[in-house]
Amino acid sequence: MMNSSRPVRFKQPSRLPSFGETVIENEQVLTLVFESISWDIHTICAVASVSRRFWAIARRVLWRSLCVHRAPGMAAALSGSDPSGRIDGGWQALAKLMFFCGGGESTRWPGHFASESRFSKTSGRFFLPKNCRGDLLYVSDPCEHEAVGGGGEEHLGVFRGVFREFMRSKTRQCLVRRQAELEEKVRCPYCGGRVWSMKAARLVPKSAARRLGSRDGGLEFYVCVNGHLHGTCWLIPLSSDEEERDFDGEEDDDSDDFLRG
Ligand SMILES: [Zn+2]
Repeated sequence: MMNSSRPVRFKQPSRLPSFGETVIENEQVLTLVFESISWDIHTICAVASVSRRFWAIARRVLWRSLCVHRAPGMAAALSGSDPSGRIDGGWQALAKLMFFCGGGESTRWPGHFASESRFSKTSGRFFLPKNCRGDLLYVSDPCEHEAVGGGGEEHLGVFRGVFREFMRSKTRQCLVRRQAELEEKVRCPYCGGRVWSMKAARLVPKSAARRLGSRDGGLEFYVCVNGHLHGTCWLIPLSSDEEERDFDGEEDDDSDDFLRG
C-alpha cells in the first residue's frame, strides 16, 4: 500500500531505476492487484493493450484467472486433463466467450458485453448428436434480441458454448466421418478459427430446438476447430410455449451457473 505521508507524484521521476521490469509489470504484483478487483474484464482488456509485456502476462495468467474466478467448475472441467492448464483456443478466447454475446446476422443484431450469461453442461447435452452424448459441451441460455422493425413476435435468440477437448470428441469424429466441409465465410467470433455448420452437416438434434424454445428449422449453430460453439434461433413467444415448461423444471444440479456481473 502507498505510504499516506508521502505526496502522490503524478510526474515521472527524473531518474528511473533501471531494473528489468518495473514493480507494476511484475507478474505476481499484477496478479494480486487483479485479484483485489475480482479480475475485472474491462481492466484486463485495458492493461493487455498497454504493451507487449502486459499482453504476454494477460495471456499467461490473467485470462485464465478470470475464467477460473467466473466459473470455477466449468474452467476445471475444460482444462482438467492437462496439467499445464492449457485449453484449446486459449483462455483469452474462452474469456471472450464467457462475457461476449456475438449477436446475429452481423449488423442487424450487434454483439454486446453480457455479464450475466449462464452456462450449463446439462443444456449442452441437448445440442449433442445422439451418438456423441459422451462429449462434454457447455451451452449458454439464449440471449434475446428483439427483432428490429420486423413486426414479428419472434425474437432472435443468440447462444454460445464450448466443448472439452474438441479434437478428441465424438462430435468432431462425426463431422470428419461425414466429410463435412469447413465454412467459407463464417469464422469463430471467439478465436477466429474456421467453423463447421452443424446444420449443413445435419447434426442439429431436435432436442436443441426444444431446449431453446425455438421452432424446428429456426435454429443454426456453428462449431469451430477449437470447439467453440455459436448459434442463433428464432424464439417462440413465451405465451405459446407452455407445454415446453417441463424442461425448465428439470433438476439442473450439475450445471456451472454464474450470475454475478
Ligand atoms: Zn473458436
